[in-house]
Amino acid sequence: MINLVRSNIRNLEPYSSARSEFKGKANIFLDANENPFDNKYNRYPDPLQKEVKEKIATLKGVKQEQIFLGNGSDEAIDLLIRIFCEPAQDSIMILPPTYGMYQVSANISNVAIQEVPLTADYQLDVNAILNQVIPATKLLFICSPNNPTGNSMNQAAIRKILDNFEGIVVVDEAYIDFSEQTSLLNWIEQYPNLVVLQTFSKAWGLAGIRLGMAFSNSTIIDLFNKVKPPYNVNILTQHAALKALKQVEQTEQYIQTILIERKKLIAELVKLPFIQKIHPSDSNFILVKVKEADRLYQHLVDQGIIIRNRSKLALCEDCLRITIGKPKENQTLIQMLKSISLNTKYS
Ligand code: PMP
Repeated sequence: MINLVRSNIRNLEPYSSARSEFKGKANIFLDANENPFDNKYNRYPDPLQKEVKEKIATLKGVKQEQIFLGNGSDEAIDLLIRIFCEPAQDSIMILPPTYGMYQVSANISNVAIQEVPLTADYQLDVNAILNQVIPATKLLFICSPNNPTGNSMNQAAIRKILDNFEGIVVVDEAYIDFSEQTSLLNWIEQYPNLVVLQTFSKAWGLAGIRLGMAFSNSTIIDLFNKVKPPYNVNILTQHAALKALKQVEQTEQYIQTILIERKKLIAELVKLPFIQKIHPSDSNFILVKVKEADRLYQHLVDQGIIIRNRSKLALCEDCLRITIGKPKENQTLIQMLKSISLNTKYS
């Protein structure tokens, strides 16, 4: 596995921050050029976020050294590309339609992109994926449940890929808390080439604090820590995460409400004449195929309701992605859509 790492990263002497160098006990800190006057935020945060990781490790049943925390899982995606992919030489493989940041991060790093579309039912085309692997293919991004399609990927298919692909398989589980399928977290013991991404942005209701998680073996986690900016997760974020981790019931409540609302929304949407298909969802959003997606999207914008128009993506023709909102918001959306169906014209 270590041979997959870019040689400059393998040989990198990481920045050693004042706070990470000193390991003993002390009560006067004159080492980090901080302002000494205590206002809660005058000190740099713990670079390895040990307290937060301790709580996450217990919750998820993993070891602390198997966790990386980043400024959103977007930071983990970017770091993975920078750790494993030599610019202008290596490539990542993505499976469209999928989350857009894999491609953008690769483009920023001047790393090539190999695309292997999902099948018509939005599943992994395992043979095509394995056939298109070349020595330069360092990372494969599998999003499950997938954004924007909403479905989970078949686990047997993921296993087959893990068994046969010699690069790193990244399974992005941003929406796993809404899924009927179990997380692949406990597979990290078995597969040294597996990285699982999760986030506080969805079920936890903390998109604003920017906190993402990567789980893998300690060798890969050490690489993340080597490459990341020293203080990538700030004190405010660490505090907010600790608070949330102490009240897990709140998150469970959010999930239950969102799942109930998803069911209700689907039950109403199927009645509407211009809805052609509601794709099965394991996420906090649904992808719906409609008649004249662009017009419907614009009509909702005009009414002050913003959904995501995904109709230009491969395999998503005339598809709109709707995030499950608060009960009242979903009701308003349905009312708006019903009034359209009565008038048959969008605007
Ligand atoms: N992965 C997927 C599949 C996502 O949809 C998103 C956000 N929309 C992210 C990762 C990024 O999440 P974060 O807020 O943790 O950066």
